[in-house]
Amino acid sequence: MRVVIVGAGIGGLAAALALAQSGQQSLVLEAAPQLGEIGAGIQLGPNAFHVLDQLGMGETLLKGAVYVDSFRLMDSATGRQINRFSFGTEFRQRFGNPYVVVHRADLHRSLLDACTSSGLVEIRTGVTIERFEQDARAVRAVAAGGRSFEGDALIGADGLHSAVRAQIVRDGAPRVSGHTTYRSVVDVEAMPEEFRWNSMAVWVGPKSHIVHYPLKGAKLFNLVATAHDEADRALAGAAVTDEEVAEKFAHLVPDVWRIISCGQAWKKWVLCDREPVENWNDGRVTLLGDAAHPTLQYFAQGACMAMEDGMCLANALGAFGPDVVEALDAYRRERLVRTARIQLGSRLIGDHIFHPSGVHALTRNATLESIGDAAFMNAFAWLYDAGNTHTSVKRPTAVPQPAV
Ligand SMILES: Cc1cc2nc3c(=O)[nH]c(=O)nc-3n(C[C@H](O)[C@H](O)[C@H](O)COP(=O)(O)OP(=O)(O)OC[C@H]3O[C@@H](n4cnc5c(N)ncnc54)[C@H](O)[C@@H]3O)c2cc1C
Repeated sequence: MRVVIVGAGIGGLAAALALAQSGQQSLVLEAAPQLGEIGAGIQLGPNAFHVLDQLGMGETLLKGAVYVDSFRLMDSATGRQINRFSFGTEFRQRFGNPYVVVHRADLHRSLLDACTSSGLVEIRTGVTIERFEQDARAVRAVAAGGRSFEGDALIGADGLHSAVRAQIVRDGAPRVSGHTTYRSVVDVEAMPEEFRWNSMAVWVGPKSHIVHYPLKGAKLFNLVATAHDEADRALAGAAVTDEEVAEKFAHLVPDVWRIISCGQAWKKWVLCDREPVENWNDGRVTLLGDAAHPTLQYFAQGACMAMEDGMCLANALGAFGPDVVEALDAYRRERLVRTARIQLGSRLIGDHIFHPSGVHALTRNATLESIGDAAFMNAFAWLYDAGNTHTSVKRPTAVPQPAV
C-alpha cells in the first residue's frame, strides 16, 4: 500500500505519521518550497492529545506546552468577568489529558521529525497538485506541468482552497464569513501585568472578540482579535498597520484597549468556512482537515480535527486492507457528523456567544454565569472524551448467511 498525500500541513503530516505507525508508506506532496507553519500559538484540547499519544508524540509536545488553568470569559463591553471554567485537575482527570497551548511551529516540526525518522514517509516540496485521475488499479496526483505521482489511495490534505476537493465536491470558493481576525505574538513584558493570566481568556463583545493566552513557557503572549466587519474577500496572513487594528477595536472598554495596544506586527485573516457536505470521497480519493470540513476557529478545533482525521484514516486503511474504496468510505462516515458539528457549532459560537450586543449579550451573560465546572465539562464531553473521538474504524464482520 502506498498512499499519496497532497499537503504537508498539520493534517497531512499527522496522516502520514499515523500511516507509518501501521507500517504503510506515504508520499507527501507540498506546494510550498519550504515546510513550516505560521509563527503563532495553537490551542490543543484533550482530544488532540488522545491522537498525539497514539502517535507517540504526546509527552514530547507536552514538555513545551503551556497548561492553561482556566477558560475565562470576559465581557468586553463592561470589563466584567462573565465566568471562569477550570481546566485544572478535575478537568485533566476527567478527560485524561490537559487543555494546552503550543507554538504552531513546534507542533509542525515535531510531526515532521517523526515522519522523517519513521523511514516510511517521503516528502517532496515545490509540487503543486492540480488534479487527480484514477482507474480500478491505482490513483495518480497530477502536478502542474503534467508530472504524476501514483498510489493506491490519495488524500487531499491541501487546506481551505483544496484542488483535490474542487474535483470531488465542486462547491466553488469557500464561504467568506465577514469576520476579520488579527494576530500578534508579543513578549510577556509587553502584556499589562494584571492581564498576564495563565488562562484561555476570551473577551466577548459587540461584533468582536479578543483572545489571549501565554505561550512558550509564558515568555510570550498570543493575541487574537476578531471583528465581524463584513469583510467580503478571503485573505490569509496579510501584514497590517497598528492603526488599522486600533480603529477596529476602539469602541471596547479601556482594559481591552490596553491589551490590544500592546500588539505589534499584526497580520490579518478574513475567515472562511464551508457548508458541511455529506460526501468528500471519490473512489480511491478522500479529503481531510480543512480540505474536507473547513471551519471558523471558534471551537479552536480545526487542527485537532485534522489530526483526528489522519488517525482515523490510517486505522481504516489498516482495518480494510486492500479494499481501499471501502476503507475510505468507512473513514468518511466515521468523521462526518463530528466534523460537521464543529463547523456548524463554530458559527453558532460566533453569532450567539462571541459577538452579540444589547439584550442578546445580557441573555448570554445570564445563561453562562449560571454554569458550573461540572456542567461545562458535561457540555464538552462529546468533544474531549477519549471514547468519543471517532478515530477508530473496524471492518464490519460478515454476518454468516444461512445455507440455501
Ligand atoms: C486565526 C485562527 C486560529 C486558529 N486556532 C486554532 C486552534 O487554536 N486550534 C486548532 O485546532 N485549530 C485552529 N485553527 C484552525 C487550524 O489552523 C486549521 O484547521 C489547520 O491548520 C488545518 O490544517 P490542514 O493540514 O488541514 O490544512 P493547512 O494547514 O492549510 O495545510 C494545507 C497544506 O497543503 C498545501 N497545499 C495547498 N494546495 C496544494 C496543492 N494544490 N498541492 C500541494 N500542496 C498544496 C499548503 O501549502 C499547506 O501546506 C485556527 C485557524 C485560524 C485561521
